[in-house]
Amino acid sequence: MFRLAQLDDRAVLLDHTSWFDLATVTGDQSLADPMVAIARHAELHAAQAACASAAPGGALADATLGVCVPRPQKVFAIGLNYRSHAEESKMAIPPAPMTFTKFPTCLVGPTADVVLSGAAVDWEVELVAVVGTGGRHIARADAWSHVAGLTLGQDISDRVVQLTGAPPQFSMGKSFDTFGPIGPAVVSLDAFPDPDDVGLWCDVAGERMQEARTNDLIFSVPEIVEYLSAICTLTAGDLIFTGTPSGVGGSRGRFLQPGELIDSGAEVIGTLHNRCVAR
Ligand code: ZN
Repeated sequence: MFRLAQLDDRAVLLDHTSWFDLATVTGDQSLADPMVAIARHAELHAAQAACASAAPGGALADATLGVCVPRPQKVFAIGLNYRSHAEESKMAIPPAPMTFTKFPTCLVGPTADVVLSGAAVDWEVELVAVVGTGGRHIARADAWSHVAGLTLGQDISDRVVQLTGAPPQFSMGKSFDTFGPIGPAVVSLDAFPDPDDVGLWCDVAGERMQEARTNDLIFSVPEIVEYLSAICTLTAGDLIFTGTPSGVGGSRGRFLQPGELIDSGAEVIGTLHNRCVAR
């Protein structure tokens, strides 16, 4: 298994207490780039094993991790992919994955601030699949073999911008700078008891708002990969936000306020801690 993260623009591997510079551990300077590391994900298992006998670069407690996938070519996001969230949004279950984009400039690290764009900014905790081996027309039966690993994300959403117009276009309301915290690491699939069944949760200002398991997804990661790759070529490092469960602020009549902390977590992957700040 491996846990791939980014620190000071360099790829690092994590164990539970320390980080290890990937290029130093492997002696291969090209692996300093996290995007190269993701494209060469098959090599990372051996590199992670080598960390057991390598000197750590430093303590995780002292490190501020950056974006684990800093320059994806594409960031897909799927709307209404949990039955419970479609119901709370009073929208029909989509016949195919309801897909929009979060432009890559919205991505930030696991402890970055989220800059509130207005009075109706909302949280959406999501499992994020990281493409490792690209391709076109990937069958769902082969899809997991094209995924380098899983990470956690927040699909932060300005509901006013997202829902303006008829039909509304979601992408811009979800693409303000800082609206895509991800991390803390890309975790390889063999670290999960079942990559189709991952528990995730979100607390805002200390209150549990969302809690679900990805076995409740309407369209599973393999189905989404099959759907997307039938339309466009997938590339190593592409991100797929898989949708959020029920419990968002829009259904509660309550949105993010300056100073509030968004604490997100997922089994095996870890946690995000993002403070909201006024623009
Ligand atoms: Zn979402």
